[in-house]
Amino acid sequence: MTTTQIVSHVKQFLNEKIHNELVPALEQLVEELPDDLVEFSQVERGLRERFLKLAGDMLRGWTEVAITRIAIPSCSSCGKPMRHKGLKPLTLATTLGHVRLRRPRYRCEHCKRDVYPHDGCIRFLSNGVSLALGKVVCRMSADKPFARAAEDLREDYGVRLCKQTIEHVAESAGKHINTIEDRRRETIQGLSPRERLSALPTATGTPGELAVACCDGAMIHAGNKPKYLKNKADQPGWYEVRTASIAIGDPVQGGSESSGDASEMPNSDRPERGHHFRMNVLRTRSFARFESVADVGMDMYLRACEVGFFDAPLQCFLSDGAVWLRNIAEEHFPDAILILDWYHVTEYVCEVAALLFGQGTAQAKRWIEGRKAELWDGRVGAALCAITRQRQRDDLTRQQRDALDRTYTYLDGNRDRMQYPRYRELGLPIGSGRAEGLCKTLVEGRCKQSGMRNWNPSGAEGILRLRAARHDGIFDQTWSQYFASAA
Ligand SMILES: [Zn+2]
Repeated sequence: MTTTQIVSHVKQFLNEKIHNELVPALEQLVEELPDDLVEFSQVERGLRERFLKLAGDMLRGWTEVAITRIAIPSCSSCGKPMRHKGLKPLTLATTLGHVRLRRPRYRCEHCKRDVYPHDGCIRFLSNGVSLALGKVVCRMSADKPFARAAEDLREDYGVRLCKQTIEHVAESAGKHINTIEDRRRETIQGLSPRERLSALPTATGTPGELAVACCDGAMIHAGNKPKYLKNKADQPGWYEVRTASIAIGDPVQGGSESSGDASEMPNSDRPERGHHFRMNVLRTRSFARFESVADVGMDMYLRACEVGFFDAPLQCFLSDGAVWLRNIAEEHFPDAILILDWYHVTEYVCEVAALLFGQGTAQAKRWIEGRKAELWDGRVGAALCAITRQRQRDDLTRQQRDALDRTYTYLDGNRDRMQYPRYRELGLPIGSGRAEGLCKTLVEGRCKQSGMRNWNPSGAEGILRLRAARHDGIFDQTWSQYFASAA
């Protein structure tokens, strides 16, 4: 038989199927549909259900007769030709329901290895789902808990998958991407600075006026320790996932309401003292990983190259002032203006005031307002004097004294990064939202909901990878980049 003849056999089978099964089913459907416009929603529902069912039937019929012959594969270990061992059944969940199909198995008798050459095109990462359903599962799992994804999948696609399967599919997808990206990073880390220049990703698209990098940590409860912590005991506990975001865009002038399509930075600043930073984001790349500072730094740097961070005339790096973050900024973002996140500053001030004067008291509020006004105007010295005056009181408890010392050290050590009037004049964000918001939406919004404990670290990272792609608005792009060939 020639291929044309076999193909026509497939077509012939499907044509017969249409006439024998689908047409009667459609006629039955027409028979059942009401005539009256007021039944619109019933008609819509009925058509959708029936056509989806028919599409599933077609897919099942097609897989029964589709050609399974394939060139004899060679063993990937020893190179010898493998032997055909008959057709093996497989049940696959698809966007059109479950399908049972049979595909050939090949075996290397020498290495005792089995392969299913079709699986690369049929199954998503060796899971029991198709590539198309895998994408739906991943998108849903990025947005919501697995149990909710299972519900929605049943509701929207009529597909029943247990939440363990959903979890496994989504985590395997995210891990797959992380593995490839880790390898890419390691390759670049192994190059000399000269060699790196040609290996770095380059930006495409409109350049932005303003580039913002920010990084922070968030805690996730994991059932075992993340891999990069080599010397720590392997036990359940709270581990820090490092979260970063790189964005380029154009500042939106003034504190006006968002104009037109201007997409705001996620969780943009609350208006503070009449100042409301907004940015029309052109491109953003985010990630959340359990990894070393060196790797976080390089990951931030690579993403910065990707969005065109270094082409922007104005670059800034927002952080809570932690030393590891300052090191990343100095190594990879030497031209960026380092800004101490305003939100973190006010946290210190509020904590001290609560300890000195009592939480929420009028005196505490007055003291907070005084310090915030000074810091807002860039008068760090005045704020430090006020702290020193409190420090000289002789009725202080140990706890109050410690909090005062801590705040003094924090503000004094970050003076250079607290020139808020200058930042505002330049149109830079000063924080209170950006980094905090990122951790909240990216990490806590998905991994820290009630009952979510004992994450497997690499599984959580997998989900967060998918979530970052959603957050950055590039889920489809990421998907085709990593799974287009689905091999
Ligand atoms: Zn072999």
